Parts: sequence; structure tokens; C-alpha cells
Amino acid sequence: MNSFGRGSSRAEDRFEAWLKQKHQERVLSGQTEPPGPCPDEAFLSDLSRRSKSISLSDPRIDHAANCPNCMNRLQVIRQIRSSERKRLALGLSAVCLFVACGLIGWFGYQNHHRQMVATAVPVSKTVDLWNTGTYRGEQPNPLQSVVLPSAPVRLTIVLPRFSSPGQYLVAVTRDERGNGVVAEGIASAISNGGQEKVSVELDLRSAKAGAYFLSTTHEQDQAAYYYPLQIK
Ligand SMILES: [Zn+2]
Repeated sequence: MNSFGRGSSRAEDRFEAWLKQKHQERVLSGQTEPPGPCPDEAFLSDLSRRSKSISLSDPRIDHAANCPNCMNRLQVIRQIRSSERKRLALGLSAVCLFVACGLIGWFGYQNHHRQMVATAVPVSKTVDLWNTGTYRGEQPNPLQSVVLPSAPVRLTIVLPRFSSPGQYLVAVTRDERGNGVVAEGIASAISNGGQEKVSVELDLRSAKAGAYFLSTTHEQDQAAYYYPLQIK
């Protein structure tokens, strides 16, 4: 069974050399006229492939080796087969390239995804408002300003003295009236050593550096307390 591949191509080359040699022997012996009629295309095709179904003693081989017409046809058949092999090789390379690109893309995505996950790990920040005065929707006094990075933040707030237990809505807003919410989160306050602490995750990646407000709103109180905040 001869199909494509270098091995069969080399076998064909050897066979062609053998045919030429047979032809030369015949010419040297003075017999230039090919014996018998030209064989059909199927036989020549088998011959070009050096099919095992053809016996080397077949008189049609002797003819083909000495018939310029048959040698030409053999040449054409070989050229067609060679170009088919090239096309197939090209097709295979294209498939390989496609698979390689797919793999590169996949690993690139995985890597990118891992980096995204890595950068999405929040920065832990604690804001101590224990001794901070609070104000309801009023212009805040120039108190200690909270500074947070423009990143995902796990923010723990030590709530001001006398704060109630329960759930709190924590938000970062553009102004002290709660407009332009940049990020917010809800969590229950946890009592610890007489202090109420609330911990929320705030994604501040979209926030440009500048002045903001940090607000805390108790679930029952509903009035928000605002503290000046800097994002850097
Ligand atoms: Zn012929």
C-alpha cells in the first residue's frame, strides 16, 4: 500500500530510475520500438505508484519504459500526485497552525485570567472612626481624611463611639449628599471589645484619584454619616 509520504516518494524515484535504465538497455541493444500497445491510464497510475499488483515481468512495463508517450503520461501522473501531497501537507500545516494559535490564545487567556484574579485580591484597609465626630448631611469639619487606593479594597471600619449594632450600608460617593456612588457594600457590624466594626468589599478600580466621601448608613437609622475620603 503506497500512499503519500517521503518513503513512497523515494521509492517512486528509484522506480523511475529503474524504468530509465530498462529503456537505456533496450536502446543500447538496438530495440527502440516499444513492444505492444500503450496500456490504459489505470495501469500507468498503478505503475507510477509502483503498485504491488503489478508484476515486474509484466510486458506493459517493458512497453512503458520504451514509449515516450507512456513516459510522459507517467511524468504527468507523478506531478499531479506530488502537488496533491503538497496540498495535503499545506492543509496539515494550516491545521497545526490553527491548533497552535488556539492553544496560545487559550494559555494567554488563562494567564490573563490568573493575573486578573491576582489583581482583584482586595487590599485590606482599616479606617478608625472611633474618635471621629459624625455629621448628618452637613459640611464636614476638617477631620482626619481617610485615604484609600484606587483598587479593590476590603475595608474594615471601626464605627464611631455609641454606634448601634446591626447592618450598615457603606458607600463611597462623589458628594456628601450620596450622589455619584462609586462603590458600596452591606455588612453586619461585629462587636469587638466594646467597638462596632463593619467590614465590606469596595471595588474602587474605576475611581479616579480625588476627593470623595465615605458614608455609613445604619439599616434602621437610614440617615447617612459622611466622612471625607481621598482616593489615590
Ligand atoms: Zn506507450
